[in-house]
Amino acid sequence: MGCFHSKVARQPPGHEDPVVLASQTAFSVSEVEALYELFKMISSSVVDDGLISKEEFQLALFKNRKKENLFANRIFDLFDVKQKGVIDFGDFVRSLNVFHPNAPQEDKINFAFKLYDLDSTGFIERQEVKQMLIALLCESEMKLADETIEIILDKTFIEADVDQDGKIDKSEWQNFVSRNPSLLKIMTLPYLRDITTTFPSFVFNSEVDEIAT
Ligand code: CA
Ligand code: CA
Ligand code: MN
Repeated sequence: MGCFHSKVARQPPGHEDPVVLASQTAFSVSEVEALYELFKMISSSVVDDGLISKEEFQLALFKNRKKENLFANRIFDLFDVKQKGVIDFGDFVRSLNVFHPNAPQEDKINFAFKLYDLDSTGFIERQEVKQMLIALLCESEMKLADETIEIILDKTFIEADVDQDGKIDKSEWQNFVSRNPSLLKIMTLPYLRDITTTFPSFVFNSEVDEIAT
């Protein structure tokens, strides 16, 4: 007795068994192992502590630690499942799983909902759609007049906010997305496209991508 944990203890903090992670996700064991190599690279880029900090995340995804933005912050927060301010290997694999071609569409829809629900109220408010829209336009170097943006928001809420309480709840979102699948485009935004060059292509070569194009 007492020797059971010696094998586990040798692993860095947050490391989880690839076989277990593969069983919980759409990844194969060898894909999880490939992701571990990637994880080691990212998590050691600033401080080699077996954990991905926000700075390391930003550096890996956006190749720029200075360029703070809405998406980087929000995606980091969503990957930081345990809200520890850092991403461990299990968080990393389970979060990336959402982008796997075989991940359930429902998971992708839920991820996108959380992405838009910037303040985690459980509702997408008009202000959040507006912030996202402006960030998206900015990303694609487009500029729309404020009146045009308000018109887009009006139209979006007339269609999506069925009970007209001024916010989009989860079931309104699910209906809205199923009628407008291109909304999941957010999963393949320019930033996320950058990830595909950093991360193995199988991760982001998803059906969402096909919808978007
Ligand atoms: Ca680190
Ligand atoms: Ca909200
Ligand atoms: Mn509503």
